[in-house]
Amino acid sequence: MNSEREPTILESFQQAGMGRRTFLKFCAATASLLVLPAARAAEMAERLANMPRPTVIYLSFQECTGCLESLTRSFQPTLESLIFNTISLSYNDTLQAAAGEAAEAAREDAMRKAWGKYVLIVDGSIPRAEDGVYCVIAGKSALGSLSHAAEGAAAIIAIGTCAAFGGIPYAAPNPTGAASVQDLVGNRPVINLSGCPPIPEVITGTITYFLSFGVPDLDAYKRPVMFYGTSIHDRCYRRPFYDKGLFAKSFDDEGARNGWCLYELGCKGPVTYNGCATMKWNDGTSFPIESGHGCLGCSEPNFWDGGGFYQPLSAATGHWPKAEVLGAAAVLGSVAGIGTAVVARSRQRKLEAADSSKQQPGERSS
Ligand code: SF4
Ligand code: SF4
Repeated sequence: MNSEREPTILESFQQAGMGRRTFLKFCAATASLLVLPAARAAEMAERLANMPRPTVIYLSFQECTGCLESLTRSFQPTLESLIFNTISLSYNDTLQAAAGEAAEAAREDAMRKAWGKYVLIVDGSIPRAEDGVYCVIAGKSALGSLSHAAEGAAAIIAIGTCAAFGGIPYAAPNPTGAASVQDLVGNRPVINLSGCPPIPEVITGTITYFLSFGVPDLDAYKRPVMFYGTSIHDRCYRRPFYDKGLFAKSFDDEGARNGWCLYELGCKGPVTYNGCATMKWNDGTSFPIESGHGCLGCSEPNFWDGGGFYQPLSAATGHWPKAEVLGAAAVLGSVAGIGTAVVARSRQRKLEAADSSKQQPGERSS
Protein backbone atom coordinates (compact mmCIF):
# COMPACT_ATOMS: atom_id res chain seq x y z
CA MET A 1 0.00 0.00 0.00
CA ASN A 2 1.31 3.47 -0.89
CA SER A 3 1.79 5.40 2.36
CA GLU A 4 2.58 8.68 0.55
CA ARG A 5 -0.10 11.24 1.25
CA GLU A 6 -1.51 13.24 -1.67
CA PRO A 7 -0.77 16.98 -1.23
CA THR A 8 -3.74 19.14 -0.33
CA ILE A 9 -4.85 21.90 -2.67
CA LEU A 10 -3.13 24.52 -0.51
CA GLU A 11 0.07 22.45 -0.51
CA SER A 12 -0.17 22.19 -4.30
CA PHE A 13 -0.25 25.97 -4.53
CA GLN A 14 2.76 26.16 -2.21
CA GLN A 15 4.68 23.51 -4.15
CA ALA A 16 4.12 25.60 -7.28
CA GLY A 17 5.81 28.55 -5.56
CA MET A 18 2.58 30.34 -4.64
CA GLY A 19 1.94 31.07 -0.99
CA ARG A 20 -1.16 30.99 1.14
CA ARG A 21 -1.91 34.57 0.10
CA THR A 22 -2.20 33.53 -3.58
CA PHE A 23 -4.39 30.61 -2.59
CA LEU A 24 -6.68 32.91 -0.60
CA LYS A 25 -6.83 35.34 -3.53
CA PHE A 26 -7.88 32.43 -5.76
CA CYS A 27 -10.60 31.49 -3.24
CA ALA A 28 -11.79 35.09 -2.86
CA ALA A 29 -12.04 35.61 -6.61
CA THR A 30 -13.92 32.34 -7.04
CA ALA A 31 -16.26 33.14 -4.15
CA SER A 32 -16.98 36.50 -5.73
CA LEU A 33 -17.77 34.80 -9.06
CA LEU A 34 -20.16 32.47 -7.21
CA VAL A 35 -21.60 35.41 -5.25
CA LEU A 36 -21.00 33.60 -1.96
CA PRO A 37 -21.56 35.43 1.31
CA ALA A 38 -18.41 36.05 3.38
CA ALA A 39 -18.97 33.14 5.79
CA ARG A 40 -19.50 30.70 2.91
CA ALA A 41 -16.39 32.06 1.15
CA ALA A 42 -14.31 31.39 4.26
CA GLU A 43 -15.79 27.91 4.48
CA MET A 44 -14.85 27.27 0.86
CA ALA A 45 -11.24 28.37 1.48
CA GLU A 46 -11.02 26.14 4.56
CA ARG A 47 -12.35 23.08 2.74
CA LEU A 48 -10.20 23.53 -0.36
CA ALA A 49 -7.08 24.16 1.73
CA ASN A 50 -7.39 20.80 3.45
CA MET A 51 -8.59 18.48 0.70
CA PRO A 52 -6.31 16.54 -1.61
CA ARG A 53 -6.59 17.49 -5.25
CA PRO A 54 -9.52 15.47 -6.57
CA THR A 55 -9.15 13.27 -9.61
CA VAL A 56 -10.96 14.56 -12.68
CA ILE A 57 -11.51 12.49 -15.82
CA TYR A 58 -12.51 14.57 -18.86
CA LEU A 59 -14.00 12.67 -21.81
CA SER A 60 -14.82 14.24 -25.19
CA PHE A 61 -17.24 12.63 -27.62
CA GLN A 62 -19.25 14.14 -30.54
CA GLU A 63 -18.13 17.75 -30.19
CA CYS A 64 -16.13 20.48 -31.88
CA THR A 65 -13.65 21.19 -29.03
CA GLY A 66 -15.33 24.58 -28.62
CA CYS A 67 -16.16 23.83 -24.99
CA LEU A 68 -12.54 23.06 -24.15
CA GLU A 69 -11.47 26.13 -26.15
CA SER A 70 -13.85 28.12 -24.00
CA LEU A 71 -12.46 26.61 -20.80
CA THR A 72 -8.93 27.64 -21.77
CA ARG A 73 -10.16 31.24 -21.75
CA SER A 74 -11.31 31.26 -18.16
CA PHE A 75 -9.83 34.28 -16.45
CA GLN A 76 -10.91 33.67 -12.85
CA PRO A 77 -10.15 31.02 -11.89
CA THR A 78 -7.76 30.41 -14.76
CA LEU A 79 -7.54 26.99 -16.33
CA GLU A 80 -3.90 26.79 -15.20
CA SER A 81 -4.75 27.41 -11.54
CA LEU A 82 -7.51 24.86 -11.82
CA ILE A 83 -5.61 21.99 -13.45
CA PHE A 84 -2.17 22.55 -11.94
CA ASN A 85 -3.16 23.37 -8.38
CA THR A 86 -6.79 22.57 -7.68
CA ILE A 87 -7.64 19.34 -9.46
CA SER A 88 -5.70 16.37 -10.71
CA LEU A 89 -6.71 16.20 -14.37
CA SER A 90 -5.93 12.57 -15.04
CA TYR A 91 -7.33 12.27 -18.53
CA ASN A 92 -8.17 14.72 -21.29
CA ASP A 93 -7.27 13.63 -24.77
CA THR A 94 -6.56 17.19 -25.97
CA LEU A 95 -4.60 18.62 -23.03
CA GLN A 96 -2.66 15.56 -21.87
CA ALA A 97 0.90 14.86 -22.95
CA ALA A 98 0.43 11.08 -22.99
CA ALA A 99 -1.05 9.38 -26.03
CA GLY A 100 -2.17 5.97 -27.19
CA GLU A 101 -2.03 3.00 -24.84
CA ALA A 102 -0.13 4.95 -22.14
CA ALA A 103 -2.95 7.51 -21.95
CA GLU A 104 -5.63 4.82 -21.75
CA ALA A 105 -3.69 2.97 -19.06
CA ALA A 106 -3.23 6.19 -17.06
CA ARG A 107 -6.97 6.82 -17.19
CA GLU A 108 -7.82 3.31 -16.00
CA ASP A 109 -5.26 3.61 -13.22
CA ALA A 110 -6.59 7.00 -12.07
CA MET A 111 -10.17 5.73 -12.10
CA ARG A 112 -9.27 2.59 -10.17
CA LYS A 113 -7.44 4.57 -7.46
CA ALA A 114 -10.25 7.12 -7.05
CA TRP A 115 -13.19 4.76 -7.74
CA GLY A 116 -16.41 6.26 -6.40
CA LYS A 117 -14.78 9.66 -5.80
CA TYR A 118 -13.58 11.17 -9.06
CA VAL A 119 -15.40 13.87 -11.00
CA LEU A 120 -16.28 12.92 -14.56
CA ILE A 121 -16.49 15.78 -17.06
CA VAL A 122 -18.02 15.06 -20.44
CA ASP A 123 -18.32 17.25 -23.48
CA GLY A 124 -20.05 16.19 -26.68
CA SER A 125 -23.07 14.02 -27.30
CA ILE A 126 -23.02 10.24 -27.42
CA PRO A 127 -24.10 8.41 -30.59
CA ARG A 128 -26.32 5.38 -30.00
CA ALA A 129 -27.09 4.34 -33.57
CA GLU A 130 -25.31 1.26 -34.99
CA ASP A 131 -24.01 0.30 -31.52
CA GLY A 132 -22.22 3.62 -31.16
CA VAL A 133 -19.88 3.12 -34.12
CA TYR A 134 -19.95 6.84 -35.00
CA CYS A 135 -17.65 7.75 -32.11
CA VAL A 136 -14.97 5.23 -31.20
CA ILE A 137 -11.83 6.17 -29.29
CA ALA A 138 -9.03 3.67 -28.62
CA GLY A 139 -11.29 0.89 -29.85
CA LYS A 140 -14.10 1.72 -27.40
CA SER A 141 -17.38 3.33 -28.30
CA ALA A 142 -18.34 6.59 -26.59
CA LEU A 143 -21.34 4.73 -25.23
CA GLY A 144 -19.14 2.09 -23.58
CA SER A 145 -16.56 4.60 -22.32
CA LEU A 146 -19.25 6.78 -20.76
CA SER A 147 -21.04 3.97 -18.96
CA HIS A 148 -17.74 2.55 -17.66
CA ALA A 149 -16.43 5.92 -16.43
CA ALA A 150 -19.82 6.95 -15.01
CA GLU A 151 -19.93 3.84 -12.81
CA GLY A 152 -17.11 5.07 -10.58
CA ALA A 153 -17.86 8.81 -10.67
CA ALA A 154 -19.02 10.83 -7.66
CA ALA A 155 -20.78 13.17 -10.10
CA ILE A 156 -20.80 13.99 -13.77
CA ILE A 157 -20.50 17.50 -15.16
CA ALA A 158 -21.88 17.66 -18.72
CA ILE A 159 -20.20 20.61 -20.40
CA GLY A 160 -21.84 22.28 -23.38
CA THR A 161 -25.23 21.89 -25.02
CA CYS A 162 -24.16 18.70 -26.86
CA ALA A 163 -23.42 16.86 -23.60
CA ALA A 164 -26.32 18.49 -21.75
CA PHE A 165 -29.09 18.16 -24.34
CA GLY A 166 -27.64 16.51 -27.48
CA GLY A 167 -26.84 19.84 -29.15
CA ILE A 168 -26.06 20.12 -32.84
CA PRO A 169 -25.48 16.35 -33.39
CA TYR A 170 -28.98 15.80 -31.95
CA ALA A 171 -30.56 18.18 -34.47
CA ALA A 172 -32.91 16.64 -37.03
CA PRO A 173 -32.41 14.17 -38.61
CA ASN A 174 -29.93 13.13 -35.90
CA PRO A 175 -28.14 10.59 -38.12
CA THR A 176 -25.93 9.19 -35.34
CA GLY A 177 -28.72 8.74 -32.79
CA ALA A 178 -26.99 11.34 -30.58
CA ALA A 179 -28.05 11.46 -26.94
CA SER A 180 -27.13 13.60 -23.96
CA VAL A 181 -25.30 12.40 -20.86
CA GLN A 182 -28.45 12.59 -18.73
CA ASP A 183 -30.29 10.42 -21.28
CA LEU A 184 -27.79 7.63 -20.64
CA VAL A 185 -26.68 7.97 -17.04
CA GLY A 186 -29.45 7.60 -14.55
CA ASN A 187 -27.71 6.58 -11.35
CA ARG A 188 -25.21 9.39 -10.81
CA PRO A 189 -25.72 13.09 -10.09
CA VAL A 190 -25.48 15.06 -13.35
CA ILE A 191 -24.82 18.80 -13.53
CA ASN A 192 -25.51 20.34 -16.94
CA LEU A 193 -23.52 23.39 -18.04
CA SER A 194 -25.25 24.15 -21.31
CA GLY A 195 -24.13 26.69 -23.87
CA CYS A 196 -22.47 26.48 -27.26
CA PRO A 197 -20.01 26.83 -25.68
CA PRO A 198 -20.63 27.51 -21.98
CA ILE A 199 -19.11 30.61 -20.43
CA PRO A 200 -15.61 29.56 -19.23
CA GLU A 201 -16.05 30.91 -15.70
CA VAL A 202 -19.30 28.93 -15.42
CA ILE A 203 -17.25 25.78 -15.98
CA THR A 204 -14.39 26.58 -13.60
CA GLY A 205 -16.76 28.13 -11.02
CA THR A 206 -19.03 25.08 -11.01
CA ILE A 207 -16.10 22.67 -10.65
CA THR A 208 -14.76 24.67 -7.71
CA TYR A 209 -18.20 24.93 -6.11
CA PHE A 210 -18.74 21.18 -6.46
CA LEU A 211 -15.39 20.42 -4.83
CA SER A 212 -16.23 22.72 -1.94
CA PHE A 213 -19.89 22.04 -1.28
CA GLY A 214 -21.17 19.29 -3.59
CA VAL A 215 -23.94 19.61 -6.16
CA PRO A 216 -25.29 23.19 -6.32
CA ASP A 217 -29.00 24.07 -6.58
CA LEU A 218 -30.13 23.04 -10.05
CA ASP A 219 -32.99 24.14 -12.29
CA ALA A 220 -35.38 21.80 -14.11
CA TYR A 221 -32.68 21.15 -16.72
CA LYS A 222 -30.08 20.31 -14.04
CA ARG A 223 -28.22 23.59 -14.56
CA PRO A 224 -26.78 25.51 -11.58
CA VAL A 225 -29.29 28.18 -10.63
CA MET A 226 -26.44 30.52 -9.66
CA PHE A 227 -25.47 30.76 -13.35
CA TYR A 228 -28.69 29.87 -15.19
CA GLY A 229 -31.30 31.32 -12.82
CA THR A 230 -32.25 34.34 -14.90
CA SER A 231 -32.88 34.82 -18.58
CA ILE A 232 -30.65 36.86 -20.87
CA HIS A 233 -33.65 39.15 -21.33
CA ASP A 234 -34.02 39.73 -17.56
CA ARG A 235 -30.53 41.23 -17.43
CA CYS A 236 -30.13 42.64 -20.93
CA TYR A 237 -28.99 46.27 -21.11
CA ARG A 238 -31.29 46.71 -24.18
CA ARG A 239 -34.35 45.85 -22.08
CA PRO A 240 -35.50 49.49 -21.68
CA PHE A 241 -35.85 49.67 -25.49
CA TYR A 242 -37.84 46.44 -25.50
CA ASP A 243 -40.15 47.81 -22.83
CA LYS A 244 -40.64 50.99 -24.87
CA GLY A 245 -41.29 48.99 -28.06
CA LEU A 246 -38.19 50.26 -29.83
CA PHE A 247 -36.89 47.49 -32.08
CA ALA A 248 -34.18 47.28 -34.72
CA LYS A 249 -35.72 45.98 -37.96
CA SER A 250 -32.49 45.16 -39.74
CA PHE A 251 -28.87 44.86 -38.68
CA ASP A 252 -27.95 48.15 -40.32
CA ASP A 253 -30.94 50.40 -39.68
CA GLU A 254 -31.12 53.39 -37.40
CA GLY A 255 -32.57 51.27 -34.58
CA ALA A 256 -29.59 48.93 -34.75
CA ARG A 257 -27.22 51.91 -34.70
CA ASN A 258 -29.08 53.29 -31.69
CA GLY A 259 -28.74 49.99 -29.81
CA TRP A 260 -32.45 49.18 -29.80
CA CYS A 261 -33.83 45.78 -28.89
CA LEU A 262 -33.05 42.86 -31.25
CA TYR A 263 -36.27 40.92 -30.59
CA GLU A 264 -37.61 41.38 -34.12
CA LEU A 265 -34.28 40.21 -35.54
CA GLY A 266 -34.75 36.88 -33.81
CA CYS A 267 -33.26 37.40 -30.36
CA LYS A 268 -34.14 34.40 -28.13
CA GLY A 269 -33.07 36.19 -24.94
CA PRO A 270 -36.59 36.07 -23.42
CA VAL A 271 -36.55 32.24 -23.29
CA THR A 272 -32.83 31.66 -22.79
CA TYR A 273 -31.31 31.10 -19.38
CA ASN A 274 -27.60 31.83 -19.12
CA GLY A 275 -25.22 34.33 -17.55
CA CYS A 276 -24.06 36.09 -20.74
CA ALA A 277 -25.70 39.45 -20.00
CA THR A 278 -23.97 39.78 -16.62
CA MET A 279 -20.79 37.68 -16.72
CA LYS A 280 -20.15 38.32 -20.42
CA TRP A 281 -17.23 36.75 -22.31
CA ASN A 282 -13.46 37.27 -22.56
CA ASP A 283 -12.99 38.44 -18.99
CA GLY A 284 -16.22 40.41 -19.00
CA THR A 285 -15.48 42.30 -22.22
CA SER A 286 -18.74 41.84 -24.12
CA PHE A 287 -21.44 39.39 -25.16
CA PRO A 288 -23.25 38.73 -28.46
CA ILE A 289 -26.11 41.21 -27.94
CA GLU A 290 -23.57 43.91 -27.06
CA SER A 291 -21.92 43.14 -30.40
CA GLY A 292 -25.20 43.71 -32.22
CA HIS A 293 -26.46 40.14 -32.70
CA GLY A 294 -29.44 38.58 -30.99
CA CYS A 295 -29.14 35.64 -28.63
CA LEU A 296 -29.50 32.33 -30.49
CA GLY A 297 -30.70 30.48 -27.40
CA CYS A 298 -27.65 28.22 -27.41
CA SER A 299 -28.06 27.14 -23.80
CA GLU A 300 -31.59 25.76 -24.31
CA PRO A 301 -32.60 22.29 -25.49
CA ASN A 302 -33.26 21.96 -29.21
CA PHE A 303 -31.93 25.41 -29.98
CA TRP A 304 -30.70 24.25 -33.39
CA ASP A 305 -34.18 23.02 -34.43
CA GLY A 306 -35.93 25.97 -32.85
CA GLY A 307 -37.39 27.47 -36.00
CA GLY A 308 -34.99 30.05 -37.36
CA PHE A 309 -32.30 32.13 -35.71
CA TYR A 310 -33.59 35.30 -37.39
CA GLN A 311 -37.31 34.88 -36.79
CA PRO A 312 -38.83 36.68 -33.83
CA LEU A 313 -40.03 34.36 -31.07
CA SER A 314 -43.62 35.34 -31.81
CA ALA A 315 -43.18 33.81 -35.28
CA ALA A 316 -40.79 30.98 -34.49
CA THR A 317 -42.22 27.60 -35.32
CA GLY A 318 -39.75 25.68 -33.31
CA HIS A 319 -39.25 23.84 -30.11
CA TRP A 320 -38.69 26.41 -27.43
CA PRO A 321 -38.98 25.28 -23.83
CA LYS A 322 -42.34 24.38 -22.37
CA ALA A 323 -43.55 26.99 -19.95
CA GLU A 324 -43.68 24.58 -17.02
CA VAL A 325 -39.94 23.93 -17.09
CA LEU A 326 -39.07 27.61 -16.92
CA GLY A 327 -39.17 29.38 -13.59
CA ALA A 328 -42.77 30.46 -13.07
CA ALA A 329 -41.80 33.99 -12.13
CA ALA A 330 -39.48 34.24 -15.09
CA VAL A 331 -42.21 33.06 -17.42
CA LEU A 332 -44.62 35.61 -16.04
CA GLY A 333 -41.97 38.29 -16.38
CA SER A 334 -41.20 37.27 -19.92
CA VAL A 335 -44.81 37.06 -21.00
CA ALA A 336 -45.59 40.35 -19.32
CA GLY A 337 -42.56 41.90 -20.98
CA ILE A 338 -43.62 40.70 -24.40
CA GLY A 339 -47.11 42.02 -23.72
CA THR A 340 -45.73 45.41 -22.75
CA ALA A 341 -43.59 45.55 -25.82
CA VAL A 342 -46.43 44.58 -28.13
CA VAL A 343 -48.65 47.29 -26.65
CA ALA A 344 -45.90 49.87 -26.97
CA ARG A 345 -45.19 48.80 -30.48
CA SER A 346 -48.83 49.16 -31.45
CA ARG A 347 -48.67 52.72 -30.24
CA GLN A 348 -45.58 53.33 -32.26
CA ARG A 349 -47.01 52.10 -35.54
CA LYS A 350 -49.81 50.02 -36.94
CA LEU A 351 -49.18 46.32 -36.57
CA GLU A 352 -48.60 44.72 -39.89
CA ALA A 353 -51.46 42.56 -41.01
CA ALA A 354 -49.09 39.63 -41.02
CA ASP A 355 -48.71 39.87 -37.25
CA SER A 356 -52.21 38.56 -36.67
CA SER A 357 -51.39 35.33 -38.46
CA LYS A 358 -48.12 34.71 -36.63
CA GLN A 359 -47.81 31.45 -34.77
CA GLN A 360 -47.05 31.25 -31.08
CA PRO A 361 -43.75 29.66 -30.08
CA GLY A 362 -44.14 25.90 -30.35
CA GLU A 363 -43.43 23.37 -27.64
CA ARG A 364 -40.08 21.70 -27.82
CA SER A 365 -40.02 18.11 -28.90
CA SER A 366 -39.32 15.60 -26.21
S1 SF4 B 1 -35.22 40.62 -26.75
FE1 SF4 B 1 -32.99 40.28 -26.75
S2 SF4 B 1 -32.03 42.29 -27.26
FE2 SF4 B 1 -34.18 42.66 -26.66
S3 SF4 B 1 -34.06 43.11 -24.48
FE3 SF4 B 1 -34.50 40.93 -24.65
S4 SF4 B 1 -32.51 39.92 -24.61
FE4 SF4 B 1 -32.12 42.12 -25.02
S1 SF4 C 1 -26.10 35.30 -25.84
FE1 SF4 C 1 -27.43 33.51 -26.17
S2 SF4 C 1 -26.61 32.46 -28.02
FE2 SF4 C 1 -25.05 33.91 -27.28
S3 SF4 C 1 -23.71 32.66 -25.98
FE3 SF4 C 1 -25.26 33.61 -24.61
S4 SF4 C 1 -26.95 32.08 -24.49
FE4 SF4 C 1 -25.65 31.50 -26.23
